[in-house]
Amino acid sequence: MGVRREDTMMATCALVTLSFLLVVSGVAATDYDYDNQHKWDGSCNTGSNQSPLNFKTVYTSSFPPFIFDNYGLINITLEVNGHSLKANLVPLSSNLPHLLGGGLSDEYVLDSFHFHWGRNNGEGSEHRLLDCSFAGEMHFVHYKKKYRNVGEAKEHPDGVAVLAVWLVAAVDDYESKQQLYRYDHDEPTNFWLDFLVPYGPFVNHFPRQTILRYLLPQNTDSFYRYEGSLTTPPCSETVVWTVFRDPVVAPRRLWHLLRTLRSPPGHGRPIGKNFRNIQAQGARKVYFSYDPESHLIQCNKQEVEELEE
Ligand SMILES: [Zn+2]
Repeated sequence: MGVRREDTMMATCALVTLSFLLVVSGVAATDYDYDNQHKWDGSCNTGSNQSPLNFKTVYTSSFPPFIFDNYGLINITLEVNGHSLKANLVPLSSNLPHLLGGGLSDEYVLDSFHFHWGRNNGEGSEHRLLDCSFAGEMHFVHYKKKYRNVGEAKEHPDGVAVLAVWLVAAVDDYESKQQLYRYDHDEPTNFWLDFLVPYGPFVNHFPRQTILRYLLPQNTDSFYRYEGSLTTPPCSETVVWTVFRDPVVAPRRLWHLLRTLRSPPGHGRPIGKNFRNIQAQGARKVYFSYDPESHLIQCNKQEVEELEE
C-alpha cells in the first residue's frame, strides 16, 4: 500500500491546484449534454484522474469491512434534477446515515443517491467490467464528515466517497432470475427499488420510505477501489470510488420510469441516457478487495447479454 499512499499525495498536490483554478474561472456546471461530453467544463476534459473506468487489471488489496451506520429505514423524496433521478434524504433525526471502514480515511455522511441508465439493457452503467456494461448504476454520494456538505467536500482531496452499485434488469424467465439472485439478497433490493418508483410519468415529492442497506448488494466485502472524479461537470478529482462487485436486480417498472423520464417531469425534454464515457486510467491502479480469481467470474459478456429482455 506504500505505492498507493505516494500516488495519493501526488494527486493531492494536483487537486489543490485544480480546485483553485475552478474557483477562479467560476465554471458553471449545471448545463451539460451527454451527447457532447467533449464540451464539458471544469476538469472533465483536462484532468488526469477522471471517472468512470473500465476495470481490466486489478491489484488485490485487503480492506477492513464497511460499517453502515444508520442505513436502515429512512424517508426520501425523489427529484428529477435535470440529468438524473435523485433521492434526497428526509432525516428523522440528526444522526444521518454514515459510512466507516472499507479502507476509507475517515467517516463519510450520506448526502443522496441517484441513478445512471441507458436506452436499453446493453448500456447504462458508468463503470464497466472487462468491457461489459451493466444496464445501470446507482451512486450513493457521501461527503467527509468534517465538511458541511458535498459542495464543500468536493473541493478537497478525498472529500467525497461514492458507493456505486451496478444494476441489472429483472427478467421474466424464472431460471435467469435465479441466476441473478445468487449475487443479490433473496429479493429485497428488487422490492425496495420497486417501492421507490412512483406510478405514472411524474415524479412526486411526497416522502417515501426505503431501507438503505437493502439497496446495496448483500456482499459489500467485494469491491473495486480507486481514486477518481465526479462523473458530471465540473468532474472534480476528489472522489474515492467503491464499486461493488455484485450487481443488484432492478425491477421492470424502474427501467420503464428511467427511460421515459423527462426533465422537468412530464413535459420537459427526455433525459434519454445519462452515463459518461469511459476515461483514461493513466498511471492509476484499481484495487480489488478480494481474490482476483473472483474478479473474473463476475463479468461474462455472454451471460449479461443472455439475460437481456
Ligand atoms: Zn452519478
